[in-house]
Amino acid sequence: MSHEQQSFETRAIHAGNTADPLTGAVVPPIYQVSTYKQDGVGGLRGGYEYSRSANPTRTALEENLAALEGGRRGLAFASGLAAEDCLLRTILSPGDHVVIPNDAYGGTFRLFAKVVERWGVSWSVADTSDPASVRAALTDRTKAIWVETPSNPLLGITDIAVLADIARSAGARLVVDNTFASPYLQQPLALGADVVVHSLTKYMGGHSDVVGGALVTADAALGDELAYHQNAMGAVAGPFDSWIVLRGIKTLAVRMDRHSENATKVADMLTRHPKVSRVLYPGLPEHPGHEIAAKQMRSFGGMVSFRVAGGEEAAVEVCNRAQLFTLGESLGGVESLIEHPGRMTHASAAGSPLEVPADLVRLSVGIENVDDLLADLTQALG
Ligand SMILES: *Cc1c(COP(=O)(O)O)cnc(C)c1O
Repeated sequence: MSHEQQSFETRAIHAGNTADPLTGAVVPPIYQVSTYKQDGVGGLRGGYEYSRSANPTRTALEENLAALEGGRRGLAFASGLAAEDCLLRTILSPGDHVVIPNDAYGGTFRLFAKVVERWGVSWSVADTSDPASVRAALTDRTKAIWVETPSNPLLGITDIAVLADIARSAGARLVVDNTFASPYLQQPLALGADVVVHSLTKYMGGHSDVVGGALVTADAALGDELAYHQNAMGAVAGPFDSWIVLRGIKTLAVRMDRHSENATKVADMLTRHPKVSRVLYPGLPEHPGHEIAAKQMRSFGGMVSFRVAGGEEAAVEVCNRAQLFTLGESLGGVESLIEHPGRMTHASAAGSPLEVPADLVRLSVGIENVDDLLADLTQALG
């Protein structure tokens, strides 16, 4: 049975995870090695030569990633931003233009505004949930449209299929950061995206114990070009990091089901709380992107943001009072996290078009017992 015929849960456990040819070990070993003995000059066993270029544990993860996103090629990097950097420097040249979302991971915005711009690439900000806003931002030099859906931290939803059409007619590539959804909840390549970006640090790893990133492409030739740059630039995922992400992915489906279930109950409680002025969760029927999310996602994921009546100080206090929700950056682990985006994850977007509301609190709802989570939020809200 080929991986394409298998259901997601089966692929998550088996794709790339073939038994070790030497020992039969059912889990791919951590090939903690830099170089490989050659049988005569140029005589490579299994194609491995030097671990920046390729390493068997990383290959296992890369095959798994490609299978999960339904892509032709998966590539694993040292972090999500390393993956983004490799992608941008592969598909863009000086003089090119990109459209970026008005709500995105702060580090992605910083990469465009403070790093890539200096290399002669210009960018415009659009509300990607509004196709007209994206069309208005296009120029004749636009080579890529960047989308994050659900977005970080405002949980905005973009219609991937509609943006894929816009990108195709503009001769630009559609890049989707699928970190918040994971491939279990959303498959951007099947909806017409050219490249999927991941921070493997989040739901894919799933246990707050590793930093990693990935690119998956629909097109094999673009995959080859990216692999060339991955080796030329060098920010690869190490063998141990690859192994631990591969381990996390085996439980991705069951984790995401519970994340979504718990987040739905948390969002519902918050909508009824007098100290909460607004809840941002695509699973809520009143969310402006609810119908699109219901169409393109399996369920609505584990991220919930909300605005606190009483403003910035009140929002900061809620974060400080939480006990079971750990105050910290990042997301996507089994343990629940709480943070204040304005002062923490999105501080680098202050004063930019991506600045976030000061009264915003972001939750990464974990897979603990939901009653314990609800009790902690209730006490934190006071
Ligand atoms: C964390 C994150 C990134 C960056 O990934 P790192 O692994 O931290 O480099 C990119 N996009 C989103 C949506 C993220 O949450």
